[in-house]
Amino acid sequence: MGSTAKAVVTGFICRLCSEQKKSVIHLYTEKAKKLELLKKIKLLPISVDKFDNLPKTICNQCLHRLEAQYDLLEKIRRSNTIHHSHRIYHSNGRCPAECLLAWFR
Ligand SMILES: [Zn+2]
Ligand SMILES: [Zn+2]
Repeated sequence: MGSTAKAVVTGFICRLCSEQKKSVIHLYTEKAKKLELLKKIKLLPISVDKFDNLPKTICNQCLHRLEAQYDLLEKIRRSNTIHHSHRIYHSNGRCPAECLLAWFR
């Protein structure tokens, strides 16, 4: 902001797909923090460290995939919690009204 210098950048390398993209998001910005990107990336089979010498940007495409994957994992986790309490506490077939598996016998 406020700088008149304009760097000629053709793109940034995405950490996840290693492709050069124009539209990327840096992992250590406020925006990334709001999106909890580092937390979501932790679920991937890679490790990102602020001081490694690898790209700290991910492209929009990967961002969308990451969000979708995180949503799926969250859904599975929530579902698993429901299944767990159903299995443990509702074993006599008597589910409380709020049990989402109440119809399932
Ligand atoms: Zn990418
Ligand atoms: Zn139940």
